[in-house]
Amino acid sequence: MARIVMKFGGTSMAGTERIRRVANIVRRQAAPKPDGTRDEVAVVVSAMAGETDRLVNFAREANPLYDPAEYDVVVASGEQVTSGLLALTLQGMGMKARSWLGWQLPVRTIEAHAKARVEAIDAEGLLAAMGEGQIAVIPGFQGVSDEGRITTMGRGGSDTSAVAVAAAIGADRCDIYTDVDGVYTTDPRIVAKARKLKAVTHEEMLELASVGAKVLQTRSVSLAMKSGVRVQVLSSFTDGDGPSADDLPGTLIVSEVEMTALEEKLDMERQLVTGIAHDKTEAKVILTRVPDKPGAVAHIFGPLAAASINVDMIIQNVGRDKGETDVTFTVPQADLPRAQALLEEHRGEIGFNRIITDSQIAKISVVGVGMKSHAGVAADMFAALAERGINIQAITTSEIKISVLIDEDETELAVRVLHTAYGLDAEDEAA
Ligand code: ASP
Ligand code: MG
Repeated sequence: MARIVMKFGGTSMAGTERIRRVANIVRRQAAPKPDGTRDEVAVVVSAMAGETDRLVNFAREANPLYDPAEYDVVVASGEQVTSGLLALTLQGMGMKARSWLGWQLPVRTIEAHAKARVEAIDAEGLLAAMGEGQIAVIPGFQGVSDEGRITTMGRGGSDTSAVAVAAAIGADRCDIYTDVDGVYTTDPRIVAKARKLKAVTHEEMLELASVGAKVLQTRSVSLAMKSGVRVQVLSSFTDGDGPSADDLPGTLIVSEVEMTALEEKLDMERQLVTGIAHDKTEAKVILTRVPDKPGAVAHIFGPLAAASINVDMIIQNVGRDKGETDVTFTVPQADLPRAQALLEEHRGEIGFNRIITDSQIAKISVVGVGMKSHAGVAADMFAALAERGINIQAITTSEIKISVLIDEDETELAVRVLHTAYGLDAEDEAA
């Protein structure tokens, strides 16, 4: 017996026909194993594809200055519909199933509406029902605040719901069924020779997700890492006779300790670089002639932080004569107008000369735990880009990631060049 959380995204839940297919996948997971035992199964679902966008628009139309609490009441409803429909479908197939809405479990959240964080899930009732062979169907994305009001967790939040449920019930695995069959070395639409990864560490996935690999909500990965939840990303579009989820056909996201064990078991070779991600959603800001003195950068980033604008890459040039320097950083494109207005507003304290902005940029990141113990990964990246005449505008690094900022038009070329440079291209299939 294992305890399994299965999560299905909006594309998999879009319409009765697809929900029936999901129900078949659930039935298969819940069926008796060869040894006669059965898994305990909880299913977390998204709203039908496009539904949340539609609901967000309704809320905006009703009142552009909407009350976030009422916004949540509206947008949480998409998942209520699909959870009920899946429970009905499972029952129609002869299985025991019931829905557990966010406020019924409850999924307690803190922080603001529309971007709530899960604080605790009371899993007692859920576990009792699952123990009796009932399939629990849980709408993702929604929770309840301390005041007893419905909250939602930010777009893409049902991944986080699934991981939170898995953590709360001590699941053996959290299977995230989606419209891709796993996590790839890079975007297969850009590089035809991208390979599906059998496994990645939580750390690597977190870096990949935060730099543009859109398979999982970033927050769900950090939660999985923090609570040690084993996640598998796999396709929901396999036929009933495809491999079972228990055979691990997708990509496993696991701790580094388990990764080391898996490498032996799955006969994988640890690469220096695991994946390459790209992100075109950032914009670059340059402030020229900022005074080169203590407190100067605090004056720049204080107001941005206070406005919850996420600053990503920061470079401060070495001071030039006259005690001045240029400061370059990136913010989400969507926040650029606000950032610009704030900086203008604080021009007096900051004391810069000009603001130069550029949205035509892309961030390319190479990620891999392998680089922790190897020198030269960064140098290889810079050399490979230079060889193709791709100019690097900014660089940041972490222990397992190197990111560079380049011209947006060169994104595809850079990703391809790096994929080859790090030996990630799949070998040609023998005909
Ligand atoms: N339905 C929500 C959204 O579209 C949550 C999710 O699907 O993960 O953002
Ligand atoms: Mg999603």
